[in-house]
This record gives sequence, C-alpha cells and structure tokens, in this order.
Amino acid sequence: MDIHEYQAKEILASFGVPVPRGGLAYSPEQAGYRARELGGNAWVVKAQVHSGGRGAAGGVKLCRDEHEVASFASSLFGRQLVTKQTDANGKGVYRLWIEAASDIAQEIYLGFVLDRKSERIMIVASAQGGMEIEDLAETDPESLRRMTIDPAVGLTEFQARELAFQLGLKGGQIAQMVSILRACYRAYRDLDAVMVEINPLVITGSGDLVALDAKMSFDTNALFRRPQVAELRDRSQEDPRESTAGDHGLSYVGLTGDIGCIINGAGLAMATMDMIKLAGGEPANFLDIGGGASPERVVKAFQTVLADRNVGVVLVNIFAGINRCDWVAEGVVTAYRQLGLTIPVVVRLAGTNVEEGRRIIDQSGLPLISADTLAEAAAAAVASRPRQAA
Ligand code: GDP
Ligand code: MN
Repeated sequence: MDIHEYQAKEILASFGVPVPRGGLAYSPEQAGYRARELGGNAWVVKAQVHSGGRGAAGGVKLCRDEHEVASFASSLFGRQLVTKQTDANGKGVYRLWIEAASDIAQEIYLGFVLDRKSERIMIVASAQGGMEIEDLAETDPESLRRMTIDPAVGLTEFQARELAFQLGLKGGQIAQMVSILRACYRAYRDLDAVMVEINPLVITGSGDLVALDAKMSFDTNALFRRPQVAELRDRSQEDPRESTAGDHGLSYVGLTGDIGCIINGAGLAMATMDMIKLAGGEPANFLDIGGGASPERVVKAFQTVLADRNVGVVLVNIFAGINRCDWVAEGVVTAYRQLGLTIPVVVRLAGTNVEEGRRIIDQSGLPLISADTLAEAAAAAVASRPRQAA
C-alpha cells in the first residue's frame, strides 16, 4: 500500500528525519493561508498523488507570493496528473502540500528496498540524486551504492558511516546522515514497510541534510497489525476495478485481451494465462478468487470480470483443494442467471467435489461449455470468442 508524500514525511519526521515545515491544503484558499501561516517568501506547492515524477509533470512548483500559491493550487485541484509512473488516466489531485522552500546545494538519492535475492533490506544511495532511480541506473550506474542490512544485527553505526563517506559527505553532515539512515531503517522495520525513498535528500545552502521528498510503501499483509498505517489509505489513488475486487477478497489485475479469467490460486491463474496465449488468445485479466470461494464470491468475480467491456468469453478454471467444485459451480450458474449472461462461458473443474460440480454445470440447462483439462479449456475459450465466430 502506498501513502502520500506528506504522510511519509510525517512518519519519517517522527523517527527523527529532518523535513521542511509545511501544511496540507484541500482548497486554493487554504493553500494561500498555509503559505501565510508558514511565513517566509518562497513556497513549494506539491500535488499529493501516489506517484513520483510529479516535478516533470507540472505537479510541483516554486512560488514567490501568496497569490501565486493560490492560483497554482487552483490549477491543480481536481486535475488528473499524468506522470511517467502513472497510466494515461493519471491520478486525481485532491490534496496539496505547501512547504517552506529550501535552497539546494546538492541532491542525494536514498532508498530502502526489500531485496528478495539476499532476503535482506537493502539501502541504495547516490550522490547524484534528484532523478528517478531507473534513470540513474542507466545514466550513472557507477554512482549507485548498495548495502544490505542483516536483520539480526540491524543497521550498524559503522555501516551508516561507511555509506556517508562513500557519498562524499564531510564534517557534521556525516553524523546527520548516520542519524537519517538509522531513522529510516527503524521506520521501515517497525512499520512493516517494503519501501522508503527520499529523493532528493538535499544538502541545503547552509550545509544541512533535509528530506525534500519522501515515499513509503507498506506490506498489505501486515496492515492488520499496523492500524495507524492502514488508516492512511487513500482510495482516490487506486484503480477502482482493483480496489473493489480487493474488497471482495479477490485479487484482480486488468489486462488488454478479451478472455475473462476466473481462477483459484495465483500460480494456476498465471498458468492459465500462459495456456490461453499458447492457444492463440489474449487474457483480459488476472483474477485469483482465493481459497474457500463461496457461490456469492464467484458471482462477485463474474461482476468484476464483466465490468471490462472487452470481455467476450469467460474461462473459469478451478483446481479445488480448499475450494469446493460444487460451490464454484453453483456460483457460475447463479452468476449466469442473475447477471443475464449471453457470452460463452467455459468451465473446467478439478479436485474436491468435482462430480457434484460437473453435475450442477451439466444439469443447469445453460449453454456452459465443460472442459476436462486446462489445455482443452484454453482451446475452447479461444475457439468461442465472438470475433472468432464472426
Ligand atoms: P517528484 O518529482 O514527484 O519526485 O517530486 P519532488 O518532491 O522530488 O520534487 C521535484 C523537484 O522539485 C525536486 O527534485 C527539486 O528539484 C524541486 N524542489 C522540491 N522542493 C524544493 C524546494 O524546496 N526548493 C527548490 N529549490 N526546489 C525544490
Ligand atoms: Mn522526488
């Protein structure tokens, strides 16, 4: 789960990372008021969306007076901000962060990520920050420093100092960097984060380190024990198809083909998508209905898949272990009737209560296409696409 920049800054600040003073605004008037409240003579107005690359997309601006703050704010509110990291729809701007501007002498990149290969938290840092890490890896791979942290030991003072030296920091900046690194590590570990990124971490004109941007992402499987993180969720930043599916215990990813997929288990869903491709078709989605799917959940799965207008045929593939084929079959029959389906539906069932499941499908009197194997099911789905028939 992602959170906004201002939320990440608040969290990191509470662990001891220095951040500029700022305030949140929900309207242009409030943005102007925040600037006045902060004082000074320069402010940065920043669109709060779940994406990086806002600066290049026109979502961040340095303003010199209160009116400029309010007028830039009014141009941002309600807009869909399209960045390099979003899709063509972009992300809606409903909150702005107004910050006292900092003067920048140098921009550093600092990231904490989960490295699956070493099964460790890894720090990635570069003295040439400000850009996206992907760009940095391409334009200046030599500048990237990596360091893995042994979770049994934690991030040691020694490691943190070594990294500060590698980044070319001097004097008091070294102690500041050590404290920032340790604070980020504690925030990452204590809150079950999967990513903490500060880009840029700047050295100001007076030589101090300050986090000008912040990004954090959290392990959704751990949200149950982090209510203070879970409440930071902002649904306006999520793909409505995927978050609605999530509410019903379904994990759904929209794709571009025309064969809607309803599968149990992520591995089987991937294999089914491969089989569809092998048979010459294109899947419309990835969907895992999970274990113990009730008939009601199967109906929800149909609704989710059919919300995609491109879907011309549905392939249901269930290998029931925890699931029960008869429940799934009941769900398919109910969905077909309730939702008034007219498109072909291919059903392949295997595992627990398979005979009962097949009986329900065969005796339903509905034009459901039964298949015995995954290969047969994929071929039948491809063959019964409406475009194919025409
Ligand atoms: P991102 O583009 O979504 O990563 O947003 P950032 O928060 O990183 O802001 C984009 C860029 O705006 C930064 O890389 C800075 O160069 C610039 N910027 C942000 N805050 C300030 C500031 O206080 N002063 C100045 N001079 N530039 C800033
Ligand atoms: Mn940034």
